[in-house]
Amino acid sequence: MTKITRMFLTPNKYSRPQIPLKKVKKIAVHYVGNAGSTAKGNRDYFESLKNGRGVYASSHYIIGLEGEIIQCIPENEVSYDTNEANSYSISIENCHPLADGKFDQKTLESLKELCADICIRYGLDPTKDIIRHYDVSGKRCPLWWVIHPQEFVKFKKSVKDMLKGGENMEAIKKLEEEVQSLKKSREKVYNNIDDIPDWGRDTVNRLMTKGCLKGTDKGLDISETMLRILVINDRAGVYDIF
Ligand SMILES: [Zn+2]
Repeated sequence: MTKITRMFLTPNKYSRPQIPLKKVKKIAVHYVGNAGSTAKGNRDYFESLKNGRGVYASSHYIIGLEGEIIQCIPENEVSYDTNEANSYSISIENCHPLADGKFDQKTLESLKELCADICIRYGLDPTKDIIRHYDVSGKRCPLWWVIHPQEFVKFKKSVKDMLKGGENMEAIKKLEEEVQSLKKSREKVYNNIDDIPDWGRDTVNRLMTKGCLKGTDKGLDISETMLRILVINDRAGVYDIF
């Protein structure tokens, strides 16, 4: 996932009030509404509010035009971004090159990864729990997805697909682990007389000398169980008849 740069705001009542965010239920997506501005520039704007111009605003994350991610507020504190949803949502502001508010591919990719990561960590469902600022207050934010709601639906689905991909990877990893442990638990096989433990070497030597034991093209090819049976038979005198 894209590296997240932490540049936490200085605690202050206008942009980082340090009110606990007790339970994350939604991810609220925004657009910065300032075409061409950078993630860092928007972060610094939130920081500047501490000087008290009477504006209350901030977000947990800002994603830039190059897909860079800046975190302004820890996830266990509320941000001032999404009106009444502030108490239960993580907010993500997104930069955009033009006034139409359309996000660049790089910005979208990072947003997708970040949303997937948050959904996994808080057990959220992308289709229901990723919301637009618009869905909370009717503000035309993020503008492009208010005008093109189908693209927002598509975006949420792409996050969901990403989570499914993650589940598949988990399943593959589990299978690989099982195969590894099966391989480990497979019985030991001796192919060389020098590898045979002392308790069985005499028996094997005798049987080889007598020509009873010839092995296979792999070598002796004697499994642990087989060796024990040979030794038991030997002790019982089964081979004394030769
Ligand atoms: Zn907004």
